[in-house]
Order: sequence, then structure tokens, then C-alpha cells
Amino acid sequence: MRTASPKAPSESNLNTHLANSGLRLTPQRQRVHEVLREKMDHPTADQVFLRAKDKMPEISMATVYNCLDALVQCGLVRQVTLDRGATRYCPNMQDHSHFYCDNCGSVYDILQTISPEEADIKIPRGFRLDNIETNLHGLCPDCAAKAK
Ligand SMILES: [Zn+2]
Ligand SMILES: [Zn+2]
Repeated sequence: MRTASPKAPSESNLNTHLANSGLRLTPQRQRVHEVLREKMDHPTADQVFLRAKDKMPEISMATVYNCLDALVQCGLVRQVTLDRGATRYCPNMQDHSHFYCDNCGSVYDILQTISPEEADIKIPRGFRLDNIETNLHGLCPDCAAKAK
């Protein structure tokens, strides 16, 4: 079951979100959420682990996975999957699309979504479209500048 959640949850309501899903706020979960919000570059679990370890040397990879699962479960973080790559994590719960740089592999949030109403898509009979997740591909500003 999904409940309506505030668009951009702050650190202060992290506790409320976790509690709503029957989860406890632990220093590890707080740290992992912090890591995701510090640099919104859609890190993989490995990258989250390395960054979390910086301030919390005792944290284990298993704990990081567990924390990420908990944050996804309570609607504070979403998983982003590239065609082949590892799952990445995004703490931006606003409706947005992802721009993938095909050269360096970085992922950017683009605050532009296509609503089912405005999309020109022929949906076969019997299907009900709820949302469209668009993936944009191209070059990030850095790579575009180098490609000139
Ligand atoms: Zn790039
Ligand atoms: Zn994102």
C-alpha cells in the first residue's frame, strides 16, 4: 500500500516516514539518507557504502543494503535502474525524469514529466495507464563540452 507522502521530505520527518512503515530511525538509516541527500548524483549501493563509511567506519555493506531497503520501503528513496548497470538510489521524491549521460554514465534529475493525458501514446484497449517514466539519453554538460 502506498500512502501520499510529502514531496521533499526533510531530515526531520525521516523519523515519521520510517515510523509510518513500522520502522525505527537508527543512526545508520539516518546516515544513509544523509549520504543520498548530500550529493544527489544517484549513487549505487557500493558508492553509498563508501560515503557512509567516511563518518561511520563501523557500518557494513549489509547494513547499507538494509538501510536502503528500509528507505525505499517507506517512500523516502526510490530505486533507479539503468539498462544494464547496478541499481542507483534517488532521494528526490518529486515527479521527475532521469537524464543519463551515455558517455560518463552520470544520472541527472530533470523536473519534467509527461502526464498520461498529454502523452501521444496509443494504449491498447483494456490497459490503464497510471504514469510514464521517461528516460532521457544524451551527454551531460561536461561531456557535451568535451565532444565539441
Ligand atoms: Zn557525461
Ligand atoms: Zn532522480
